[in-house]
Amino acid sequence: MKILVINCGSSSLKYQLIDMEGETVMAKGLCERIGIPGSRLKHEVPGKEDYVVETDLPDHSVAVKLVFDALTGEYGVVKSVDEIGAIGHRVLHGSNRFTESIIVNDEVKKVIRECFDLGPLHNPANLMGIEACEKVVPGKKNVAVFDTTFGMTLPEKAYYYAIPKEYYDKYAIRRYGFHGTSHAYVSQETIRFGGLDPEKAKVIVCHLGNGASISASIGGKAVDTSMGLTPLEGLIMGTRSGDIDGGVIQFIANHENKTVDEVLNILNKKSGVLGMTGISSDFRDIENAAEEGNHMAKVALDAFRYRVAKYIGSYVAAMNGVDAISFTAGVGENDKVTRQIVIDEYFSYLGAKIDPERNNVRGKERLISTDDSKVKIFLIPTNEELAIARDTKRLIEA
Ligand code: AMP
Repeated sequence: MKILVINCGSSSLKYQLIDMEGETVMAKGLCERIGIPGSRLKHEVPGKEDYVVETDLPDHSVAVKLVFDALTGEYGVVKSVDEIGAIGHRVLHGSNRFTESIIVNDEVKKVIRECFDLGPLHNPANLMGIEACEKVVPGKKNVAVFDTTFGMTLPEKAYYYAIPKEYYDKYAIRRYGFHGTSHAYVSQETIRFGGLDPEKAKVIVCHLGNGASISASIGGKAVDTSMGLTPLEGLIMGTRSGDIDGGVIQFIANHENKTVDEVLNILNKKSGVLGMTGISSDFRDIENAAEEGNHMAKVALDAFRYRVAKYIGSYVAAMNGVDAISFTAGVGENDKVTRQIVIDEYFSYLGAKIDPERNNVRGKERLISTDDSKVKIFLIPTNEELAIARDTKRLIEA
């Protein structure tokens, strides 16, 4: 069976067609600048030259139509859309209404719409993608895979905020966590690859990318996760502050004559390592600047790694132990220095030790700790598209 995975942003649409037999990517691509002048599609087929179309994409339906044309046309990989079994959609927020991925129907769409204010940048675009597919390939099953469902197994002590309970009752304000598909995939893959106990393994996953979050899970089920009601909470990120005293929001708003929305925009888009350094949100730029002697670049890197270590430490406590720690996403998969500093500088007391030779690797599934390390440390490349495709296949075959 072939599954199409779609990830819609407000002006973009990423896709992958996956052949589930060997779990291989047949084609992937990106529609950019949907609804903005200068829109284009880039379609990639492994082993072939990229196919680029520069054409007007006024809305997501036109983009979806172009994707299906690319998949079935001259540069295509299937003869007709009939070969595609179903479409899996990444959806950011499912509130506490969805504990699992689900086949889309009117009720599901209604709930995704009701979650617009919990995921204002993503949920409207995710729904547009679903509705575009319904229009362009009617009758094809669509599956919604939520970023929030991994967090649905959190115990009450981990997901309640210590604020008046009425806000949970009225608005379902709680910790949800994000990057859920990545955390679910990497924690399961850590158990499989590491030969750990599938029921009892205590695993910490560090998803360190431009957005960054950490999860703790037992037997693949989340017990805690660092992002909260929104992706702002937790680690220091490319442009997000992560954890912050709410008093800072009030202080900046009062002194800079800004609204709460404006301050939140600063915390989400102009903070993190970008805000601390004024240089870039890209960790490679920060590392280069630190090497050239820029003091704040060095501080930002130290602070980023320190925060990661603090979260790992708190999750070791939350689970009363840890069997494995896995690194994933852009920084986690590529930056051996961050992996080494986080483990060797902060967790030697646990008997965790990085093997420098094994750690000298990028983007490959590998054990990177020494044989005598008391905690296994892994690099596990994330694959959110595959996780979405697997869930989609499972649901439509059920
Ligand atoms: P992601 O959001 O998972 O795509 O990750 C993007 C982030 O990974 C960017 O900030 C990149 O700078 C960072 N990244 C990629 N390669 C490296 C590397 N070799 N060293 C440090 N950071 C990297």
